[in-house]
Amino acid sequence: MSEEQQLKDALALVNFEPCRGAERPQIMPCFECDNGTMLPITLNYHTNHPNLGDITIPSVPMLRCDSCGDTVIAQEGSAYIECIINALKTN
Ligand SMILES: [Zn+2]
Repeated sequence: MSEEQQLKDALALVNFEPCRGAERPQIMPCFECDNGTMLPITLNYHTNHPNLGDITIPSVPMLRCDSCGDTVIAQEGSAYIECIINALKTN
């Protein structure tokens, strides 16, 4: 079994739900433009972890501006990513 397949299997075993915070991301004005609003979306997040290698974390909560399209990972998203990486490391 390839390492990539092993990682996919590991991701499939992780229960993501406990990683999701009870609080929804706050809607806020965009920092990049004057007339945009940051709206909550979920996107796959690709990262290169020193121990886990290339991983794609599905459905990470982020905020995207409805005017300029700027996308940021808010505190909720960072906590979510951290939680999943921790879960993968202990698998
Ligand atoms: Zn904007």
